[in-house]
Amino acid sequence: FDMFFLAFVERLFRPTFRKDDFVLGKKLGEGAFGVVYRASLAKKPSSKKEGDLVLKKATEYGAVEIWMNERVRRACASSCADFVYGFLERSSKKGGEYWLIWRFEGEVTLYDLMQSKDFPYNVEAMILKEVPDLPKGLERENRIIQTIMRQILFALDGLHSTGIVHRDIKPQNIIFSEGSRSFKIIDLGAAADLRVGINYIPKEFLLDPRYAAPEQYIMSTQTPSAPSPPVATILSPVLWQMNLPDRFDIYSAGLIFLQMAFPGLHTDSSLIQFNRQLKRCDYDLAAWRKSVEPRAGPELRRGFELLNLDGGIGWELLKSMVRYKARQRISAKAALAHPYFDREGLLALSFMQ
Ligand code: ADP
Ligand code: MG
Repeated sequence: FDMFFLAFVERLFRPTFRKDDFVLGKKLGEGAFGVVYRASLAKKPSSKKEGDLVLKKATEYGAVEIWMNERVRRACASSCADFVYGFLERSSKKGGEYWLIWRFEGEVTLYDLMQSKDFPYNVEAMILKEVPDLPKGLERENRIIQTIMRQILFALDGLHSTGIVHRDIKPQNIIFSEGSRSFKIIDLGAAADLRVGINYIPKEFLLDPRYAAPEQYIMSTQTPSAPSPPVATILSPVLWQMNLPDRFDIYSAGLIFLQMAFPGLHTDSSLIQFNRQLKRCDYDLAAWRKSVEPRAGPELRRGFELLNLDGGIGWELLKSMVRYKARQRISAKAALAHPYFDREGLLALSFMQ
């Protein structure tokens, strides 16, 4: 009750908008479920001609996406792009369109940044206060990748602690926020909120096969369809513990870690090829390494070298994220406490062994 009431009160006191309040700018993206534009308020057109807002016109899944964004804003605002408002715009089209408005966070996603030959150095000055006093090389690259991974896991931990599984974690859905100088998650169109049963039944067709974990259903197929909200609020922590649906996102984040460490895996086609190899190894990353390392070219060898730094602590974290069984994967919170993220990671590891 209180959650719905608070949401209602909050909505009463926030400004409301309609279609005519916005001027559309450049198209930023177009998916199967919506189109995304830059936009600005008609009343006060921003000095920049492109506008300081982002607008998504979405089909029927827009309703879920609005719900998720409102929940994120109340519970873990810093995890995701800053959501302004969402509404149903009734139009001639059957059922109308959902309009979703965010603040424009920045020009580039992690995907855009990874396409540069200069990655990860092109990210260095964006996220590190002081550029390390190190020559360009593996250790310095590792520092940058570490910081990006920490920010992704921090944002994921926020979502998961709120009871939300994103289900579409990939570099294209990680935006660099120029305001906070950090990476944030976008695109909650495929997300599931387990505490209240919203979008509880996974829509497998929404999942991106390049980053999806091997499990078809993030909740066990024996779990019946979503209970109604009051029941779900009581039951869902139990269901969460039983099924660990958050580990779906951890697998995807692990693949991003892998992609960042191996420049050869930056493109989609190379990732698809990797997925095929991993499947052949029964999703055992150590077995994959054994199969490719002996005949690895210089790029692949360099990636293993990076993950081998500090006693192989990066490789160890990666292995605990990319595992076949969801319950064997590390949680976002535990990953953040992993010695890989310690400055004294090496020391911590020597204690562990
Ligand atoms: P889609 O359903 O098309 O994948 P997204 O929500 O992922 O929709 O948005 C598409 C693209 O629009 C993103 O990849 C990103 O480049 C851009 N974008 C989305 N939200 C923002 C934002 N808040 N600030 C800046 N760019 C954004
Ligand atoms: Mg997207």
